[in-house]
Amino acid sequence: MRAEATVDLAALRANVESLRARTGRSAVMAVVKADAYGHGMVPCAREALLAGATWLGTATPEEALALRAAGIGPDQARVLCWLWTPGGPWAEALHADVDISLSARWALEELLAAVDATGVPARVHLKADTGLGRNGCQPHDWPDLVAAARRAEAAGQLRIAGIWSHFAAADEPGHPSIQAQLTAFRDALAHAESQGAAPEVRHLANSPATLLLPESHYDLVRPGLAMYGLSPVPEVGSPADFGLRPVMTLEARLASVKRVPGGHGVSYGHHYTTPGETTLALVPLGYADGIPRHASNGGPVQVAGKWRTVAGRVAMDQFVVDLGGDRAEVGDEAVLFGPGDRGEPTAEDWARACGTISYEIVTRIGVRVPRRHL
Ligand code: PLP
Repeated sequence: MRAEATVDLAALRANVESLRARTGRSAVMAVVKADAYGHGMVPCAREALLAGATWLGTATPEEALALRAAGIGPDQARVLCWLWTPGGPWAEALHADVDISLSARWALEELLAAVDATGVPARVHLKADTGLGRNGCQPHDWPDLVAAARRAEAAGQLRIAGIWSHFAAADEPGHPSIQAQLTAFRDALAHAESQGAAPEVRHLANSPATLLLPESHYDLVRPGLAMYGLSPVPEVGSPADFGLRPVMTLEARLASVKRVPGGHGVSYGHHYTTPGETTLALVPLGYADGIPRHASNGGPVQVAGKWRTVAGRVAMDQFVVDLGGDRAEVGDEAVLFGPGDRGEPTAEDWARACGTISYEIVTRIGVRVPRRHL
């Protein structure tokens, strides 16, 4: 084994149960896009469903179709897919019983053409832009989108199954956009309902809102990061503070261990020079595996129980750590991150060292690293 990411499905299950306990009557949509944030989409989806999630959320239609192709049927989970582009696989999604998010008229028109062609009515979730400024329908276009969807509903072409939106800064408690978005969402919902829409689910909350904003829970919450046991608000609380346990552990086996004299340049560009005679160990993971190059001279790694830092630049397939006077053998374990209870660094430690967020650390672990699901 060169390197491996172990994925603790029992921890994932406990995290979903802990989130369910927090959200009470609101259903849970397990957000499994981006290969379940790098954890393996299908096994994580199945485990989340065993733990009581009833919905699965994906960005791309291909992800939603892959869940169905893996045998997760409509009797086991509703699947919502929210990132559509022109010419998308509308008909395939209808046949696969996937719920479809709509933010604009062009998407509604393409969907209705597919409904007419297949004879399969759609279930849609109308997405309001309540302030994120990304996808979602602007308030001035909302009445038109709602009216068009209501006409299609009356014609039996679709059902408005959801009204929803997404937060811009739920991970920044007290950010003025939070209350503004709650108000805008209430307005969008009130307008749709005044036009006769009767959605099964109204939903708004991502992980930080699931953990910190009960008033945003509505009928359904959509946690991603928290389900994988990471804190979306590390400055507010650790995973343990929120009853969560990190799911992924990333380990590698040392591929080389050698003594070198002081003054020895290490890795491309010689951005590290050994301060004296020392032991250098080679970790066979690099930026092609998702180890950020920003971790050069900084990323933490546990070797033989001690924290070391990446020495010099992270290369495509490998990086070096300086073990000082300590001994190690080729094949010894290097732990990049895990839950932290064996004293190892966490994904959050890597995020801090690289000036990013833990979302990016776990999601970018590449396809060359096998996942072992426990
Ligand atoms: N809902 C939508 C629309 C998203 O795009 C995402 C992820 O970015 C989530 C929910 C889950 O977010 P988080 O991982 O912060 O829970």
